[in-house]
Amino acid sequence: MSNKLFIYNTLTRKKEQFVPINPPFVGLYACGPTVYGDAHLGHARQAITFDVLYRYLMHLEYKVRYVRNITDVGHLEDDADEGEDKILVKARLESLEPMEVVQHYMNRYHLNMASLNVLPPSIEPRASGHIIEQQELIGKIMDAGYAYEVNGSVYFDVNSYHDSHPYGQLSGRKVEDLLSNTRALEGQSEKRSPLDFALWKKADPAHIMRWPSRWSEGYPGWHLECSAMSTKYLGMQFDIHGGGMDLLFPHHECEIAQNVAGFGKPSVRYWMHNNMITINGQKMGRSLGNFITLDELFAGDHKMLEQAYGPMTIRFFILKAHYLSTLDFSNKAMQDAEKDYLRLMKAIVQLDALKPADSSTVDVTELSERCHKAMEDDINTAKLIGHLLSGVTQINNLAEGKETITSRDLKALSSLYHNYTFSVLGLSLPEAGGQSEAITGELVEFILQLRNDAKMNRDFLTADRIRDGLSKLGITVKDRKDGADWEIH
Ligand code: ZN
Repeated sequence: MSNKLFIYNTLTRKKEQFVPINPPFVGLYACGPTVYGDAHLGHARQAITFDVLYRYLMHLEYKVRYVRNITDVGHLEDDADEGEDKILVKARLESLEPMEVVQHYMNRYHLNMASLNVLPPSIEPRASGHIIEQQELIGKIMDAGYAYEVNGSVYFDVNSYHDSHPYGQLSGRKVEDLLSNTRALEGQSEKRSPLDFALWKKADPAHIMRWPSRWSEGYPGWHLECSAMSTKYLGMQFDIHGGGMDLLFPHHECEIAQNVAGFGKPSVRYWMHNNMITINGQKMGRSLGNFITLDELFAGDHKMLEQAYGPMTIRFFILKAHYLSTLDFSNKAMQDAEKDYLRLMKAIVQLDALKPADSSTVDVTELSERCHKAMEDDINTAKLIGHLLSGVTQINNLAEGKETITSRDLKALSSLYHNYTFSVLGLSLPEAGGQSEAITGELVEFILQLRNDAKMNRDFLTADRIRDGLSKLGITVKDRKDGADWEIH
């Protein structure tokens, strides 16, 4: 197990050495999607960021329990405490049961993630399956004096919590500033302060998703599920909590307050947040018309797309940037990513076909050191990919015989590329069923045309050589009156 991994902790704003609470076990929690629509690039970046962290920790031989939730209740429009549940709105629009909406988009999310080679988490808990755990946590927070009930709803009391604990530390916000930036409460609000947030909401008569509780028939607040489910599966204290930067406030800030209020101390050692994706320099949003789903990207089916982009190109594009940097989507950036991705894949195929020599002219140890360092330095996939691509020139030289490599070095170089490219970065070779199959067909037709020309010139020697050569490659040529047919055997 390597002990040199440093990660940027959002809470302390410092790169810190990663020391698990209970090695070799590592508890990792990342917020999953609210399943009321198709996954887009933002979902992909978050899932891929923590997928690579999960893969890398396993590569370092930690035993990782990775929990990624599904939000299927309680996430209201605009992330607020008033308004409608996002899933219910969709259910009404499409005349479906809310759980049909959940199942539909959850299935699609899983398909998208599988295409992107995102590994399934160890546990994927759903908020609706943990209502009792959430109610228990509300009870604890109330017992500690940090929550109050009004008309069957329960709210977290931020002011009384802030008297003894810092609120806003994770997102770097001050309670005073938050208060001056928030609209004053209107007369009918149940909250004591506009900063208070719902732990339990009493359901309106029209609200379908509802559960009994000692306060009212209702449903849990959005932030509560992650506090309840992360600690249920990872313990009162666990190693890493991840999510997108858009979740810093209020979601994760509220999560910390709930855990401290309910359990007496914070639960998370390291907070990690991936940065956002912009589209041609603009924030992504449905109203801006630049909201591109993953399925649209895979199919090239959106007015902003010049072509379709395969899942591996998208994965490579995302990993070409460090997770803390912003990442701007454009056709040009995607096409560059596609070129680099294919260049890397071609080099690995070449690498696997290299023959060893008696001496090496390449320094595998140095390249390998640079790759290790990149990942140990806060999972810097951008640097890692840079190093892997810089090695491609060397692999090309080896393939052309301009440089030589011993069998020991060749083994080391091969495992370096395979481990980092496939196991850690989670990339895979381009799909065989796609473009490459079409190219094979065209190539065979082209070669048969040459053979036909040879026959016409009565050059039977060449014609036979082509037939035998193809046969060795597993392609049978059958001569017919009107030319030749072929099949792969
Ligand atoms: Zn969450």
